[in-house]
Amino acid sequence: MSDIKCKLLVIGAGPGGYVCAIRAGQLGIDTVIVDRQPPGGTCLNVGCIPSKALIHAADEFYNIAHASDGNLGITVAAPEIDLGKTVAWKDQIVQRLNSGVAGLLKKAKVQFVAGNARFVDGKTVTVQTDDGEKRFRAENVVIATGSAPIELPFLPFGGDILSSTDALALSQVPKSMVVVGGGYIGLEIGTAFAKLGAKVTIIEATGQILPQYDSALTKPVTQRLKKLGIEVQLNTKAQGYAKGLLQTDKGDIPADKVLVAVGRRPRTDSVGIEELSLSMDGAFIDVNSACQSSMRGIYAIGDVTGEPMLAHRAMAQGEMVAERLAGHKISWDKRCIPAVCFTDPEIVTCGVLPGELEDSKVAEFPFIANSRAMTTEREDGFIRVVARANDDAIMGIQAVGAGVSELSAAFTLAIEMGATLQDIAATIHAHPTRSEGFQEAALSALGKSLHI
Ligand code: FAD
Ligand code: NAD
Repeated sequence: MSDIKCKLLVIGAGPGGYVCAIRAGQLGIDTVIVDRQPPGGTCLNVGCIPSKALIHAADEFYNIAHASDGNLGITVAAPEIDLGKTVAWKDQIVQRLNSGVAGLLKKAKVQFVAGNARFVDGKTVTVQTDDGEKRFRAENVVIATGSAPIELPFLPFGGDILSSTDALALSQVPKSMVVVGGGYIGLEIGTAFAKLGAKVTIIEATGQILPQYDSALTKPVTQRLKKLGIEVQLNTKAQGYAKGLLQTDKGDIPADKVLVAVGRRPRTDSVGIEELSLSMDGAFIDVNSACQSSMRGIYAIGDVTGEPMLAHRAMAQGEMVAERLAGHKISWDKRCIPAVCFTDPEIVTCGVLPGELEDSKVAEFPFIANSRAMTTEREDGFIRVVARANDDAIMGIQAVGAGVSELSAAFTLAIEMGATLQDIAATIHAHPTRSEGFQEAALSALGKSLHI
């Protein structure tokens, strides 16, 4: 078997890998990308996109089901949902996007090879395809193999014990669901199933949901979970499952289905990295800020390199690596990586949290004083700014509230462009919008509030 030569081989066509390959192809680099799944990775096939589709369907269902309870003068009969049809709709979106990514790779003259890739050595990779084994010899290899859900030994996936992938493919709404883990996945998917009518209980090992954030940010979400009838048991650990009961250190909880969402581990097992002498950072591949591993010509991007495990971080890393391989002097100089938790209400964080910066000015504006929030019947939450005390440079912005995910771009741009409190306070924000809360938070930090 003769080796197929290329300048760049990318292993994994998730957001990190496919963006890297597209940019490399556009820059004229002879590029091959390998994945055993349709292009798009975890994010497109079983992560970001399917979960946001389910959240949307659940929101629609819940809003219709509860329309008669509100103050808008709307009366509706109780709706029904055929989750099988919802999942088929979600699958169509996924397939459209799979084809879209495949088309973009083709347009950039990148060769997509379907199969499982495995290192032979630092320059040689074999791929098991439907047509047999292919062997590639590459000048540079990018490892973009992503992550997989952590499995608890006493709750192995299968049957009624679901990973996020299983939960996003259910064709019926379970009567009851216990979610193990009150992090991103547990809260997003748990909330969706509660809105669809399941009795949901979330158990979380620490003393707070989303323990990486401060309690002020998570409080509106906790309040909403309660309103949605979701029980949250903090400081509770799962121990096993038998006869429809999830066993925990605080007692048993009835559960038709158990969703285990206790974090994700890097996917390094199937790619044969043991054939290489890579430095590791725990279970993750250790890379420098340019995503170079400890071996020349081998790069790693995305979830396989550790937190934050976010699609847009993987994409930004992928693009940077491609530009560098084309000889462009690009370095990682991002000021912040925004994170959005698609809970109800949504949470956005960019840059530093209060307490992470000494000598800071911190101010917030509550949505209860925002007219747009009133007219959409969602006054919960706030926007908060954290600025450096000596020069008013904005270093962090957080928000919790309905629909605030769409404000993440304005927040990130402000930090990336080095905006000060004065810049945001002096920018005209359209009325009536939730974004006015950003301007008001900046005004408040300057002691110049107008609307509160
Ligand atoms: P991945 O997307 O995991 O892609 C890796 C690819 O490598 C896979 O396609 C895999 O098949 C392939 N692969 C692995 N090993 C091999 C091999 N040996 N040979 C060939 N191919 C291989 N992030 C967000 O930013 N926003 C969200 O809203 C969001 N929601 C999420 C919801 C859920 C339920 C989950 C699970 C994750 C979510 N994430 C979200 C996280 C996001 O999906 C990941 O951060 C992102 O997919 C990481 O991209 P990646 O390119 O590093 O790896
Ligand atoms: P996570 O780290 O967000 O949350 C896991 C939670 O489980 C933590 O709060 C942890 O304390 C808890 N936990 C751990 N062991 C436990 C146990 N035995 N019993 C009870 N609780 C336990 O992990 P996740 O929700 O699985 O998500 C994985 C990653 O996927 C996230 O880090 C995130 O980067 C990414 N993701 C992002 C989005 C988004 O951007 N909107 C959505 C989903 C996932």
